[in-house]
Amino acid sequence: AASDTGAPTIFDKIVAKEIPSDIVYEDENVLAFRDINPQAPVHVLVIPKLRDGLTTLGKAEPRHTEVLGQLLHASKIVAEKEGIVDGFRVVINNGAEGCQSVYHLHLHVLGGRQMKWPPV
Ligand code: 5GP
Repeated sequence: AASDTGAPTIFDKIVAKEIPSDIVYEDENVLAFRDINPQAPVHVLVIPKLRDGLTTLGKAEPRHTEVLGQLLHASKIVAEKEGIVDGFRVVINNGAEGCQSVYHLHLHVLGGRQMKWPPV
């Protein structure tokens, strides 16, 4: 499993639009784009444009509370835009044991099918 080295990730290139992505929502601080390997009919990643130390949620500090709120709110906007606002899931994988593979904080917005609980 991948670990948190602090190295830049591919999401920097997506934010910089150096590599293409299918953008669903964007504002000053947040970018939302379709996952390249979707696990549901709707699978969108919501990220802070500036990582600012947020390789993982586990690195969150008091200075991050505003952008953390913006990410959750952007997830709701994505769900509305995608027509799944009445039934969707938001996931953050944290660290190797949490199955995180890209060390730039991101929320997975999943929907368009029946979800299961527990997610296994
Ligand atoms: P994690 O496993 O870290 O929670 O999620 C990382 C997600 O990023 C995975 O679902 C993976 O499919 C997605 N991903 C990795 N590289 C790219 C990429 O270059 N473009 C897009 N759109 N998604 C990516």
